Amino acid sequence: METDIGSRTWHAPAKINLALHVTGRRADGYHLIESLAVFTRFGDRVEVALADSDDFTVSGRYAPEVPLDAGNLVLKARDALRGEAGPHKTPPVAIKLEKNLPVASGVGGGSSDAAAVLRGLVQAWGLDIDGAGLARIGLSLGADVPMCLAARPLVARGIGDELSMVPDVSALGLVLVNPGMPVSTADVFAALSRHDNEPLPPLPRGIDFHSLRNWLELTRNDLQPAALAIQPAIGRALSWLDKAGSGFSRMSGSGATCFGLFETGNVAKRAAAEIRGRQPDWFVAATRSIASEGADGQN
Ligand code: ATP
Repeated sequence: METDIGSRTWHAPAKINLALHVTGRRADGYHLIESLAVFTRFGDRVEVALADSDDFTVSGRYAPEVPLDAGNLVLKARDALRGEAGPHKTPPVAIKLEKNLPVASGVGGGSSDAAAVLRGLVQAWGLDIDGAGLARIGLSLGADVPMCLAARPLVARGIGDELSMVPDVSALGLVLVNPGMPVSTADVFAALSRHDNEPLPPLPRGIDFHSLRNWLELTRNDLQPAALAIQPAIGRALSWLDKAGSGFSRMSGSGATCFGLFETGNVAKRAAAEIRGRQPDWFVAATRSIASEGADGQN
């Protein structure tokens, strides 16, 4: 995070579902999930500064793909917080979004932007709202916003909003690959053949590359077969990760972004360069995940 005069930049990480099991469906149609999620150092950036009037600008590779009007989750988050705190405590703000994450791609970019804006505005406005209060406002914006506010390794249950932080997860070397095709989350859930899959198996005690790879072999992304049927390019992204030496490859969320797990950040960088060389139009990013609080940040 950087500080300039009067403004501050907040990191909005990608959310990677290392495993995602669909375990049920509520009467209102919402799906119940169990997911081990991590967050990455690669992500969007949100700059927040007090200003004479409200302003919102978007830059970055994926800027053309996000709405600039009130439909943007950044503005929904600003307005929700302002509604909660009242107009006298929430003067005008200029918000700049650098949109580096592909849109509608299974890495929760919009939710993460909303979480970063909430954190940024609480500080800019000097509001006295605790983590639980912020998570409640976040949940009103989307089921994944509370986990993006936490942004540390966690297991999400329920509709994705019941969070258990997972201790002892090391920073992991990851390559993210998206073949450039948006996939509708609603279409993927609608195509599921069953909703009552097994829950996640118990997690190992300390999670590093080796123990995670073994555990991942016992798990699934239950959305992957449906997403693959809708968007076959996902299969090509997975096979490029495998060819580049990934220890384990899988789709995140409802796709189409796939992740590959690598033993070190440097190996991940080499693999990303190789895939980028072969697929120059795809989104390819080497990154590391954010470790659990107090866990080994090196890998
Ligand atoms: P998830 O993994 O939670 O399903 P996703 O990565 O698939 O999320 P997002 O990139 O968050 O999807 O975008 C979902 C929708 O939200 C898009 O249709 C997009 O138009 C809209 N949207 C609104 N604001 C944003 C934003 N700041 N960034 C990305 N998408 C946004």
